[in-house]
Amino acid sequence: MIMSDLYGSMVFDDRAMSKRLPKETYRELKRCCALDLPLSLETANVIASAMKDWAVEKGVTHFTHWFQPLTGITAEKHDSFISPTKSGGVIMELSGKELIKGEPDASSFPSGGLRSTFEARGYTAWDPTSYAFIKDGILCIPTAFCSYNGDALDKKTPLLRSMEALNKQGVRLLHLFGRKTERLNMTVGPEQEYFLVSTDMYEKRKDLFYTGRTLFGARPPKGQELDDHYFGAIKPIIVKYMKELDEELWKVGILAKTKHNEVAPAQHEFAPIYTTVNVASDQNQLTMEIMKKVASKYGMTCLLHEKPFDGVNGSGKHNNWSLCTNFGHNLFEPGKSPQDNAQFLLIVAAVIAAVDEHQDLLRIAVASASNDHRLGANEAPPAIVSMYLGDEITGILQAIADGREYSRRAKCDVKIGVHVLPKFAMDSADRNRTSPFAFTGNKFEFRMPGSSQSITSVNLVINTIIAEQFEKFADELENAEDFNAGITAIIRRVMNEHGRIIFNGNNYSDEWVVEAERRGLLNLPSTIDALPYITSEKNIALFESQGVFTERELRSRQEIYIENYCRLINIEAMTMIDMAKMEIIPAVIKFKSRLTKAAKNAAAVGVDAHDEVEIASKLSVLISKAREAVQSLEEALGETHALGENIEGGRSYRDSVLPKMQELRNVCDQMELNTAKEYWPMPSYGDILFSVH
Ligand code: ADP
Ligand code: MG
Repeated sequence: MIMSDLYGSMVFDDRAMSKRLPKETYRELKRCCALDLPLSLETANVIASAMKDWAVEKGVTHFTHWFQPLTGITAEKHDSFISPTKSGGVIMELSGKELIKGEPDASSFPSGGLRSTFEARGYTAWDPTSYAFIKDGILCIPTAFCSYNGDALDKKTPLLRSMEALNKQGVRLLHLFGRKTERLNMTVGPEQEYFLVSTDMYEKRKDLFYTGRTLFGARPPKGQELDDHYFGAIKPIIVKYMKELDEELWKVGILAKTKHNEVAPAQHEFAPIYTTVNVASDQNQLTMEIMKKVASKYGMTCLLHEKPFDGVNGSGKHNNWSLCTNFGHNLFEPGKSPQDNAQFLLIVAAVIAAVDEHQDLLRIAVASASNDHRLGANEAPPAIVSMYLGDEITGILQAIADGREYSRRAKCDVKIGVHVLPKFAMDSADRNRTSPFAFTGNKFEFRMPGSSQSITSVNLVINTIIAEQFEKFADELENAEDFNAGITAIIRRVMNEHGRIIFNGNNYSDEWVVEAERRGLLNLPSTIDALPYITSEKNIALFESQGVFTERELRSRQEIYIENYCRLINIEAMTMIDMAKMEIIPAVIKFKSRLTKAAKNAAAVGVDAHDEVEIASKLSVLISKAREAVQSLEEALGETHALGENIEGGRSYRDSVLPKMQELRNVCDQMELNTAKEYWPMPSYGDILFSVH
């Protein structure tokens, strides 16, 4: 198949719609999408029927409303198009009502108390700005998911609300600059890291199988220290995998673009071309699913966990975010005229104020038990949120704040108010790789998200906190006597109050932790430190005023995230206990008894056996230690269970269960290093990390 036939062949995109819909229907759909209006049933009926015909021609018999409940993965419930006719036959049908509204039984999805189980009704509603696509022979209709009362039960609904909020305030602000902008888009390109390991190995490790990460495993003799994997030659089987992945993604309209090896052995990265944020997040969910599916065809398993291997780099998901007008102008491209630059600097100032004021929300948006293993581990940004702007922009903003001229460059022809600014060109050369929130020339790159996380949470936070600043700025400038002086005043205030969030140095250094504390920045190392902030007065006020979450919705989300944290660590602890008791300890006992037998036999014929005896004795000690460690982990778990799945329970998982898990692991890893390979009950780190050839 040639590329132009392949691309988008499985998505009911703009091309397909403009071809298949009557002109008026197509125009009406575009109008509703642009202005966020609901579709009339009449229009929906016409679209549904065209969509169904398109799908049926491709052999599709079923459709599903595809949504993102708070479990973090996508959900679907399949219905067939089949509808009985009076004459006893069947026809294939999809009504407008079925297209725009579904009613899956919601009782088993987490709702954090928003919907009691007996009131199981939840509604899904089509998001017509995200195209329907065919996956595994099923027509998938991207939807938002709400309770009977309209409370958001999913990730998409608040994201759409945040887009609306930022659009509204952004357009207001741009109009003050005399722009004719009608709509502001948030564009996002997520870079996705992942591991590929052999499925044979994967299936022999209960820890990988149940939790997505290894809970035991001594370091291999060769890890990533040679840095020979990063951007290295890609192995033939991986090349085939990446090619097929690209093709599968192109079919559903995802513009797969960049692929390369990452730092760790068996680690790779994928990036699509950026697109509108709600589409980008749907596509990222779909990408993760397709990555796993394609891997299984090659006898490989795709690991999306943030930290599958201890001592080896984990996986993140860099979220590249920018703002673009309906005329295609990227607001983070510094412009040519003084007015352009004033606008650019003001918008950057909004980002500075937003990130500083809501460090907690950015931290919360990436908080999960699995991502905690990655943040601050010298491979990913620390848990402290700061932002990188580069010396040039920082210098200009500081000069404005200080009321002096900026004189690093000779050419000074840009003015804001009374201050003379140089015409500036962005160097992307001095990019900082360690910053959590970095300006990278024409967009911001948020580097804290974990590889398995949905990008909806981070983007809805970014949109909302910037919407709030835009609103403040617009209020202020609308009432300003002198527009340019007003801008100068805002920039000065932002730099004075929020300049502390800018850090252009090395975020991985220990000095930064000390410096950040001196600056009064938040440091929330673990998820359970961060989650209580969701419902702080400030955050409730922010989300309510921007119309993104009600207090009820925030409370329910907080409850669900805390539960998730507890449950995830509980599963890990239980898996460890199981593996230690049923696999590791018995295997080591077997090897020990093999050694003692050998020693006995040797002694019987007068041969020295002190080596066998020494190793066996050493193992004996370790076996006892391992059993004690299992017991104390079981005790810690018992005490933690008694507290319940709440903040106290969560703290107990962190402070008591996690350290006991580490103790058990340490002893078991010691045993691994002293046990013959043929006796060890599972593949080693070396086996897994170098398993794909
Ligand atoms: P890096 O140097 O960080 O590895 P990549 O080129 O791998 O950069 O990825 C950059 C990502 O940023 C891509 O997904 C790209 O589409 C995205 N991107 C580029 N421009 C924008 C923009 N204006 N808005 C959002 N994302 C963007
Ligand atoms: Mg990047």
